[in-house]
Formats: sequence, structure tokens, C-alpha cells
Amino acid sequence: MRLSVSGHVVSVVAHAGIAWTRSAAGDSAAALNSDLEALHQRAPSGAVCGAAAGNTSCSSGLCCSETGFCGTGASFCSGSGCQLSYGPACDGNQTPRGSDTSKTPRPLFGNVPYGVGISHCSVTGKVALSFDDGPYAYTMELLDLLKRNNVRATFFVVGNNMGKGHINDASSGYAPMIQHMAADGHQVGSHTWSHQDLNAATREQRRAEIISNEIALADILGAVPTYFRPPYTRCGGACLAELLEWGYHVVNYDIDTRDWQDGGAAAKTTYQTILAQHSPASSAWLALAHDVHEFTVHRFAQFMVDTARALRYDLVTVGECLGDPPANWYRDPVTGQPMDLTQPRPSSSSSSSQATKTSTSTKKTSISTSSSQTTSTSTSKTQTPVTSKPAMGATSELEHTTGTDATSAATELLSVVLASALVSTSTSSNLSALPTAALLAVPSSDAASMISTGGFCWVVGQILLIAWLGLGL
Ligand SMILES: [Zn+2]
Repeated sequence: MRLSVSGHVVSVVAHAGIAWTRSAAGDSAAALNSDLEALHQRAPSGAVCGAAAGNTSCSSGLCCSETGFCGTGASFCSGSGCQLSYGPACDGNQTPRGSDTSKTPRPLFGNVPYGVGISHCSVTGKVALSFDDGPYAYTMELLDLLKRNNVRATFFVVGNNMGKGHINDASSGYAPMIQHMAADGHQVGSHTWSHQDLNAATREQRRAEIISNEIALADILGAVPTYFRPPYTRCGGACLAELLEWGYHVVNYDIDTRDWQDGGAAAKTTYQTILAQHSPASSAWLALAHDVHEFTVHRFAQFMVDTARALRYDLVTVGECLGDPPANWYRDPVTGQPMDLTQPRPSSSSSSSQATKTSTSTKKTSISTSSSQTTSTSTSKTQTPVTSKPAMGATSELEHTTGTDATSAATELLSVVLASALVSTSTSSNLSALPTAALLAVPSSDAASMISTGGFCWVVGQILLIAWLGLGL
């Protein structure tokens, strides 16, 4: 290993387990002492770190946890807990794949103010449901729920928190989910790259939190959002000024459901009380919830929809409740001009093949209702434009298509098994091993799907096959 000091490498010296190089004679003793001091302050896994530990930084590849220990894994590295200044491997210190957007022009279009905190809707009779911190494990279910109810909402997305990986990494599986949001007409805003407290961050760290998330979202959507929600609603003067420079509307809320607290114990009462105490003729609301919580998706989202509608509020996106047309919700990553994701456009994103693949694996739930964001799914058979479609009722399109897919898969597999059996019979191979081998060949996820739906046909086929082989036919 070679570490260049002042750019003139002449020797390599091992010191305290760390190999480093000394620069040419021109280096001053003070500079070397400074380098040595810095090397000494690189703490190994398990050591203390952070400001409370004498500004000790962890070694390369390690994170400095919220409680001040060096280590790896989500408990040390994820999201807001990781101390960016002392943990080189913190989620927030990672950079996503994608084109740099920091040079994107930032014209300020539309009538909604930029760089100031916005807490209230301006169009009466509206309720804007907003979901922060995702996407996460429950987000897909929430998208299905909103689709069944014909509701558009807003998602303030975090790029790399909770140990979920980068949102635009194929392995994370979240890119297609975010494309799905846009395709369904939801609004996608930024909630930073790793959910750091922006008031506690340095200017450079705030820049990274904003730009890294842009890079990932531009890679996924082909567009940069113009709406931003600061984590913990913490964004002071310097933060707001920088968000103005980056061309963001800073969106807060006026209904804090606190769905994260005590399992959402007070969330329903809080939400319902506020809506019921006011009239849709003279009020509008911007509600905060989080799609990373099981309670929110399974027991609260439907309640929010039903309650708002029972009280005669319209459910809309944040942009709509501010009177801002969809074209202003995003900007082109290259030109900086408004970009309307509700309008079809050619598929060119690098994520397109990934999205197509995943939209199929998620059983076609990405079919758009009224707005087709075609950035990445236009080549998919699921992308058939639907110009007019009523709200989905209790009958689940998801269940139907899942069963169809599974039955097809089972049929295909049975055909393969039978064909293999015929080949094996003709070559006098070990017939008794065939069914077991065929069973083992089924991917576990596919097997589960088949067992739950079309698998019955496949199982019957297996029984017949075993009987057939047993009889020596
Ligand atoms: Zn948050």
C-alpha cells in the first residue's frame, strides 16, 4: 500500500500497522507529524470515535455509529445515526452510481416559492398525503393500496438509509418501485441521501445529501425533483439558502400524524380530529406519515383515505395542493428545465431493462391508471397505456395476474419435466431421481408462488409423473 504525502513518493514505511510513504526531503517535520497524528487517530473496529472521543475517526471501511463506536453494518452505518465526519463508510459518505447533477442549471419556474419552508396547502378542499423515509419493505403494498383507492400521494424518498442499499442499485430492488410511483401519478420528492440532520451537517455534507439523492433519482426517473423535505424538519437559514440555490421547494407539513410513535397509537385520532374540526370549503392539509412503518401501510393509510373522503376532502399530491402543475415537479437533469413525468416520453434510462424485469416480477402492478411515465417501462408488456380506468375495487388485479403467471410457470415447468422424463426414458437413465431433481430446480420464490396459486396443477403433474415412472411406462 502506498500513501502519497505531498505527491512525491520516495519511500514506504510501516508504522503502527499502517503502511505509508514519506514524501521527498522538502516535506516539513510539521507536516509529517500532522500526517502521523491523523494516522494514529484512525480507529479500528470496536474503538470509540466521534467528537466525544477526541475527534477520532474510524479507519477506512468503517462507520462511526451514533453512540460513537467504529464498525460495519446497518447499526453502525445507516442513515442519520452514522457520524459522517468520523465514519468514512457511513451511508451518507457513499456516492451513488449516475451522472453528476451538481452542474445542472437551476431555473426557478412556477409560482410556488423556493428556498422557504412551506407547511400549508394553498388550494382549499385538498388533503395531500405525504410519505417519508422510503421506499422500504412496505412501500409496494402502499402503492397497491393507493391504486385501489385511485389516490395520488407524495413520496419523499431517502436514497440510502436503514441499511437498504442505494435506491438505484439493481440489487436493492427499489428503483422499479420509484418508477412505479411516478407511473401511477404520485409525486416523488427528495428527503436527502441518508437522512442526516441538515442543521448539524457541514455545508459540504448538506451538498452531498442533496446531490447524491438527485444523482440516484435522476438515474431512476430521468428527472430531478424540485420538491424537498428536510429530515426532522430541520433546515435553518444556511440550509434554506442552499436549497434555494439548488432550486428546491422546501415542504414541511401541518398535520404530523406521528405514525412512528408508540406504534401509531395516536395517529388516527390526530389526523381525524384535525380534518373534522375544519371544513374543506375553507381549509386544506398537508399530512406527514412514513411508509417505512408497518402500522402506516397496514392500518393507517386506508383510514387516512377513507376519513378524508368521508369529510369531503380531495386527496392530491403536494404539488397539486399548492396549485403547481406536474411539469414543475421535476427538472431535466441536463437542461434544468421543467419535466413532466405524467407525459409519455421515449425510454432511454439506463434502468429501463431493470425496471422492465422487475415490473414483471412484481406481477404487473405497474400498469398506470391515468398517467404513464414511460421512461423505463415502455418496452414492457405491462406498459399498455390506459387512458381511462375506474378506481379499482375489491377485486385485486394483482391476485389475478399472479395466479395467471404462476399457472403459466407451472405449466411450463411440467412440460420441461415431462420432456426430460421422455429423454431420460429413452436413454435409460436414473428415472427415480428425476422428480426430485425437477423439484429442486424450482427457485424458492417461484415455488412459493406456484404452491399458493397455480402450483396445484404442477403438483398433480408431479404425482402423475411419479406414478408413470413407477409403473415403468
Ligand atoms: Zn424522515
